Amino acid sequence: MLNFLETSYSNYSRAAEICVICLTIVIFILLLTSYVNRTRAFRIFCGIVGIICLAAITNVCFNETIKLQNPKLNLLVYILRWLYEGMLFNVFFLFTLYIIVITNYDHKKSRIVAIASTALFLTIMATDVLLTVTKVGFVLGEDGTVIHGTNIFMVGYIAFVILIAVIIFAIRKLVYKRVLYGFYGVMALSIALRFGQLFMNESSLTTITFAFPTLAMLYIMHSNPYNISIGTLDIASFENTTKSLYTKHRDFIIMSLYLPDYVGEAKEIPDVVSEQIRRFAAKLFHNALLFKVNNGHFLLVAKKLKGKDYRSYVQVILREFGAQYLKHRIPFKIVYGSSIEEISKINAYLSLIENINASIPENSMHSINEKDIERFRKHLYVISELEDIYKNGDLDDPRVLVYCQPVYNIETRRFDSAESLMRLNLEKMGMVYPDMFISLAEQKDFIHKLTLIILNKTCQSVKRFMNEGFNFKRISVNVSALELKDESFCKDIIEIIKNNDIPGDKIAIELTESTSELDFDIMKKRINILKNEGIKFYLDDFGTGYSNMERIIELPFDIIKFDRSMVIASGVNDRSLSIVKNLARMFSDLEYSVLYEGVEDSKDEDRCVTMAAKYLQGYKYSRPIPVDNLREFFKQSEA
Ligand code: C2E
Ligand code: CA
Ligand code: CA
Repeated sequence: MLNFLETSYSNYSRAAEICVICLTIVIFILLLTSYVNRTRAFRIFCGIVGIICLAAITNVCFNETIKLQNPKLNLLVYILRWLYEGMLFNVFFLFTLYIIVITNYDHKKSRIVAIASTALFLTIMATDVLLTVTKVGFVLGEDGTVIHGTNIFMVGYIAFVILIAVIIFAIRKLVYKRVLYGFYGVMALSIALRFGQLFMNESSLTTITFAFPTLAMLYIMHSNPYNISIGTLDIASFENTTKSLYTKHRDFIIMSLYLPDYVGEAKEIPDVVSEQIRRFAAKLFHNALLFKVNNGHFLLVAKKLKGKDYRSYVQVILREFGAQYLKHRIPFKIVYGSSIEEISKINAYLSLIENINASIPENSMHSINEKDIERFRKHLYVISELEDIYKNGDLDDPRVLVYCQPVYNIETRRFDSAESLMRLNLEKMGMVYPDMFISLAEQKDFIHKLTLIILNKTCQSVKRFMNEGFNFKRISVNVSALELKDESFCKDIIEIIKNNDIPGDKIAIELTESTSELDFDIMKKRINILKNEGIKFYLDDFGTGYSNMERIIELPFDIIKFDRSMVIASGVNDRSLSIVKNLARMFSDLEYSVLYEGVEDSKDEDRCVTMAAKYLQGYKYSRPIPVDNLREFFKQSEA
């Protein structure tokens, strides 16, 4: 079995090596023409492909030189062999780096892997030289023929295979199972072939066994799906591109096309628009890359070139899209600008653009300016604070403030209930209003924690007011319909009410009609559980959006809150007045109480009173005030 450590050079054929050379060149062509996901892992991958190609060339040279059996070329043979094996071990070394980079492996452990791999590589290379010098290893005779000596190659090979197996085992939890199995399969094949060639007394297949795992990496890791017709890449590649341009200190242009009608829909954008995108990208920006965020949102990134008048392009694009809109009525929003150090640093172009898109009108083109950045900074700050509030999970978090708006009861002629409205008090921004954070908190899934905090604080105030002898019915808290999905929803709410030792009927919950695909039966079940605790339910914002009467009536609401838009509408003309009045009467006949929101003056009030109102709420009575100030209203009602 000693020949396990020896390599046979007599049966060598170039064919496999030439295959490897061609294969690596093909991969390079593919990489140059189609893959732009230029991550660090990608660069290591390119290194691997390049070294395998060089190794194949070196091995051909080595074997051809040996065949000449010319003692004058002995030194060259030594060097070529050493280089060839060095390259293969270098590929092994890069494999290990590649795995830890692509899996974002733990920083400290990555360093250990890198050190172990480097040490192994250097030890093998040094031992190989040592074995040759001491005439134990690979040695050539005076006549240029190979005197078989012990070859370190196989030992190094096994050592590296073991190292890689250990690393793959360590990272197994970080990798999608199927990908892992893919790699195991390919590795097993390569190793089998490498050992198989020993038994066949072959030596031509060594390099190609390194090419197989490389092919697998190319296919699994670097083939980003993209739309052939306009060549758009996915959003991960967008982020990698802007990051890579930033690390290379390249300025770039960024442009976003947003088609609100197509966002999230299964339908693809119409040909006229994809035609336009293709044309602009190709004609105006020669080196542009296109990315697709979703069906209705595209991004373009182009390296900034000297001497180009980008402003004139903007005019061309705006003119063309304007004409398109007139003809096809596809609304659009275009945002453009140059790379910005601050945004590049955190690689947050997409969120910046989304933030801008939310604030600009349709069919307009907007150049990113300092104000946008300032607003975005605040947006990021609010997110970080929300996240912190969420993570701390402190039900008394001092950053969450309870404001309340008293509600006037027409029957009792008193303010005997109120609505809790949240404010944030943030160190760097002071008071922050719901339009800055509620939808964000919903998107990021922080909302339920906020609800629990405001509910807890509201319960504390309720408790205090009760102890002080105030006479009031309840305070309502806003809840996002999304929260009802959570199985623990009812338990969380009940627990807080119980912990504050107040009766459930002192608390109400306001829900808006949700457009989400929330399971109707589950929603109904959860509402009923809480109603059993005495909690009343308000349907918030009735009259905004499309109402589904059947669903509203199916759910056990107690109070319907007519939105301010209905109050306004009722004042426009008799017809609208009659519609609102009849709607309110219908609810009232069905034993719901009707509450009008946004009552701003006596005219609003007078109208609402004639429209089956039971409760009135609005600036006419009070703006939202700190919860403690409710005493003035509740006390007033006692008089
Ligand atoms: P909403 O539940 O419809 O709350 C009523 C909003 O109308 C409040 O705005 C209030 O200040 C405002 N408002 C009251 N009276 C008048 C009036 O006479 N005229 C006009 N034009 N507006 C009036 P605010 O406090 O800025 O809250 C905005 C929205 O943020 C709320 O709308 C609610 O959807 C959401 N929100 C507020 N607090 C919370 C909360 O604790 N949890 C959740 N999930 N959402 C909340
Ligand atoms: Ca509300
Ligand atoms: Ca409302």
